[in-house]
Amino acid sequence: MSTPLATCAAASLVSPPPDPWLLRGRLVCERCGRTRLPVFDPGVGRRSYDCATPCQAPPLPAARVERDLLLLALMWTTGRSEHTDGPVVSADRLGACLAWPDRARAVIGAAYVAVTVTEHGHLRPIYRPLDTRTGTETAR
Ligand SMILES: [Zn+2]
Repeated sequence: MSTPLATCAAASLVSPPPDPWLLRGRLVCERCGRTRLPVFDPGVGRRSYDCATPCQAPPLPAARVERDLLLLALMWTTGRSEHTDGPVVSADRLGACLAWPDRARAVIGAAYVAVTVTEHGHLRPIYRPLDTRTGTETAR
């Protein structure tokens, strides 16, 4: 008979694959107020974020929103805005970050308190205060 502790120790011998869900726990549905949950459809191999409740809001395709929000988070860490400075994060840098889910999740966690999802699937990021960024400070 194995104790929970022994099971846990055995599991730690095999390093788990990185969690691919970059926005786990961060997307809040504006319609029902609940956190969007990761849903994997093995039939088509598609990941999405969906409401567990009988909410009529459509699921969000995970790859697209993760890429979009990671890009904005990378720009936030450099103090740039897509509106005033244009795209300042190269596709290479974005791709490299996406290839390391743990790192990408840390960047996203540093940038956003949460991200609200409207019933039409639009994203409304709630950024952390600018002065929590390391390195760059904006003059006020
Ligand atoms: Zn919902």
